[in-house]
Amino acid sequence: MTSQHVIAIDLGGTKLLAGLVDREGVALRRTVRPTDLSGEDALLDQIEHAIGEVGSDGFGALGVGIPSTIDQRTGCAVSSVNIPLADVDLRRQLERRFGVPVMIENDGNAATLAEHRLGAGRGTRHMVMLTLGTGVGGGLILDGRLYRGAVGAAGELGHITIDVDGPPCQGSCPGGGHLEALASGTAADALAERFARERPEGDLGRAAAAGRPATRAKCSSTSAPSSAPASRASSTCSTRRSSSSGAGSRARESCSSSRPGGSSPSAL
Ligand SMILES: [Zn+2]
Repeated sequence: MTSQHVIAIDLGGTKLLAGLVDREGVALRRTVRPTDLSGEDALLDQIEHAIGEVGSDGFGALGVGIPSTIDQRTGCAVSSVNIPLADVDLRRQLERRFGVPVMIENDGNAATLAEHRLGAGRGTRHMVMLTLGTGVGGGLILDGRLYRGAVGAAGELGHITIDVDGPPCQGSCPGGGHLEALASGTAADALAERFARERPEGDLGRAAAAGRPATRAKCSSTSAPSSAPASRASSTCSTRRSSSSGAGSRARESCSSSRPGGSSPSAL
């Protein structure tokens, strides 16, 4: 029964992955594409298209993991470092669009929950997880439960300062010397490019001279059955920035319109 299937979205700063998932967490159908970072409308359009693609036979609920601080009282994406989403009531917007229950969660928290229930963390009482991608996400399981903290950012381990004199953090993060600035996929790419320039006789230098991607492979859109849980996909993509201006006519659900009092909680 398709109503027992849910759609899981893993939105990152590099790729958008959508899967139709059964009750055991097995992805029956999936699609992946480079994240459209050209603007909020374009990104929301892309999310809806991906849902329509894998959910064409129907589905009973939506779960969305995004690299954002989430206000769980309202389902709002409050702020994001690596994608153009801020002050968007994503839960309400998707509920209205697809007419099913929607759960929004920080992507690091979602990966941590999946790993705790289905993966390496099964049976553990306390668990820390780091997710390495465009940025560095994280999640905490304390006493068997996901710990989000006061404003939902307790698991933002990528923004811990590990070098006070380190480089500026990436995206919209105003900090410096953070783990994300030194150990994310983006940081690894920059380091590999620097080594290729400084040591053209080395492996990375020769790979770059030969036109081979030194660090990552480009991804392509796919839609095939898979037995792997949706949270365990390992394909990587090169970041691609589209010049599209997006639909521009979206009925936008802002957080301030749904939040009691309209106050804006701090990002981190
Ligand atoms: Zn940071």
